[in-house]
Amino acid sequence: MRHVIALDVGGTGMKAALVAADGELLHQARRATGRERGPDAVVETILDFAAELSAYGTERFGEPAAAAGVAVPGIVDAERGIAAYSANLGWRDVPLRDRLSAKLGVPVALGHDVRTGGLAEGRIGAGKGADRFMFVPLGTGIAGAIGIEGRVEAGAHGFAGEIGHIVVRPQGSPCPCGQIGCLERYASAAAVSEAWAAACGDPEADAADCAKAVASGDPNAVRVWQDAVDALADGLVTALTLLDPRTLIIGGGLAEAGETLFTPLRDAVRRRVTFQKLPQIVPAALGDTAGCLGAGLLAWDLLATTDTEVTP
Ligand SMILES: [Zn+2]
Repeated sequence: MRHVIALDVGGTGMKAALVAADGELLHQARRATGRERGPDAVVETILDFAAELSAYGTERFGEPAAAAGVAVPGIVDAERGIAAYSANLGWRDVPLRDRLSAKLGVPVALGHDVRTGGLAEGRIGAGKGADRFMFVPLGTGIAGAIGIEGRVEAGAHGFAGEIGHIVVRPQGSPCPCGQIGCLERYASAAAVSEAWAAACGDPEADAADCAKAVASGDPNAVRVWQDAVDALADGLVTALTLLDPRTLIIGGGLAEAGETLFTPLRDAVRRRVTFQKLPQIVPAALGDTAGCLGAGLLAWDLLATTDTEVTP
């Protein structure tokens, strides 16, 4: 059976799958990146993991994978197939696409983790059918992917979509990126955890605890939560003023609060817009498999172009 290898490389763990042409996950596996052993060891781990998946596919489905797609964190030069920078994995200018392609003997596509996840959410997940969407995962930080007619915009230098670093509180707290008052300092899961821990006096309390307290009507929690929602709405309105998306897909840990987040968020966005058209604001549908599914789509897209090139 024709299939591709999909790999989603995170800071500490990797998710992998063998994916059929219809998007079905035929086989899934996980492995640690081994980042404590340094950037070269991470690259070797990725190469070995991919080779094992390839061997498994050959044995199980009677033919080797036709291509591979890989999503990696940090800064990615997708066009040249280079993992340019990742603070988490400690790498700089790794020609990952060519090294994987040499190891596996098949074409390989390389993508940025959030943009790759966004590609999957936009094409087969919460944004299915939307010609223009924005995917915003609220996790430790806040990232973004801008979807335009079936592809995700990377920008001229690979930085497009960084909505977490839109300044929403110019007099606010410094961000590790060097600016002051970035959205991510107020509305990431990490920021809400920090604010709620300080407000309730329990250093172990996190964003999920805050959401539960909001649902039970705790006024302290409601205040912390609303501050985050207001900051998020400020950032999203800037994005939708520039991009006019049809669908805003909100994912990541904070979105797991469901309507505790989405009801006040839709209200806050609606209160802010004047001439802008309101997009649909929906929760992400694919969870933490988005990156892997997106990597599979990258691989199939690559084959679609190659197939077209060889068949006039
Ligand atoms: Zn920042």
